[in-house]
Amino acid sequence: MKQVHYEELVDLSRLCTIKVGGKAKKVYFPENIEQVKQLITQSVEENKRFVPLGVGSNTVFADGVLDHIFVSTKKLKKLQIIKKDRYFFITAEAGVSFKTIVSVVKKYNLEGFEYLSGIPASIGGAVVMNAGAFGSQISDILEEVVWIDMEGNVHRLPASTIDFGYRTSPFQKGGFVYSAVLKLKQSERNISSVIKKHLEERNRKQPLDLPTSGSTFKNPPEKPAGYLLERAGMKGFRIGGMAFSEKHANFLVNLGGGRFKDLKELIETAERRVGELYQIKLEREIRIVE
Ligand SMILES: Cc1cc2nc3c(=O)[nH]c(=O)nc-3n(C[C@H](O)[C@H](O)[C@H](O)COP(=O)(O)OP(=O)(O)OC[C@H]3O[C@@H](n4cnc5c(N)ncnc54)[C@H](O)[C@@H]3O)c2cc1C
Repeated sequence: MKQVHYEELVDLSRLCTIKVGGKAKKVYFPENIEQVKQLITQSVEENKRFVPLGVGSNTVFADGVLDHIFVSTKKLKKLQIIKKDRYFFITAEAGVSFKTIVSVVKKYNLEGFEYLSGIPASIGGAVVMNAGAFGSQISDILEEVVWIDMEGNVHRLPASTIDFGYRTSPFQKGGFVYSAVLKLKQSERNISSVIKKHLEERNRKQPLDLPTSGSTFKNPPEKPAGYLLERAGMKGFRIGGMAFSEKHANFLVNLGGGRFKDLKELIETAERRVGELYQIKLEREIRIVE
């Protein structure tokens, strides 16, 4: 079988939006489903952790050289659009970015995706995280997901059979989301202007001028994580080059030269302080790869 293309000693800080981490011994770039299956088999045989990579907007990497099977979705970008009456079915491979989906949504004036428009995600990462905003999440507009389990079996799953929750999906347990079908309706409203409004709101609330990994913690049922962190004195709290943002207490930002160890210490300090103050155990939203 053809060897899947890979690069060696890849700088992990280039593979996550907060720009931390050491090096990946190898990063693989599969181009089709067979190559992904091949890499799954390799990770099982070599007893190495299988780590799919999207945009890296919810992921942070440890320092040092990490010897996992890192699987980039950069070369999985096929997109197919089928129109049936007023509905558009968009089939996107894992590496298709939300930016690309937004351009399709604008072109055909489709509704249902506007709330997600500013999230810096890939389709694969968004399905795994069940990414969402303004009360909507990607699971609301999903029709189907193609997922490969760690035995290499390919499952074509209707979205209604998948147990999605708040920033959770069964895919967080492992395997690879290969593609997804979104179902969107042609709108009567001007969707481009709705998207513009959402983007402005994000700009106002989020520290988009600095490298960040988005929300660090999920919102507990009691109160938003940002509120709890602010009360616990974490807003603007800095260790080394890393801090909880002055603009949004739940966003970690890299102020320049921020290291993984600073980030980890900040997370642990926040968890301890909120635990002591409110007896609430914060649940991490960001994914740490060590
Ligand atoms: C500025 C900013 C704003 C954000 N705003 C929001 C928001 O409003 N709402 C929200 O929900 N999130 C938000 N996020 C977080 C993040 O964008 C989302 O979680 C997004 O879905 C992550 O997508 P990704 O492609 O970057 O995933 P990654 O960070 O690359 O990966 C996330 C996890 O999924 C796994 N994964 C990636 N691709 C696959 C695949 N194909 N198969 C299996 N596993 C895979 C990874 O191994 C990792 O565990 C924000 C982040 C930033 C930086």
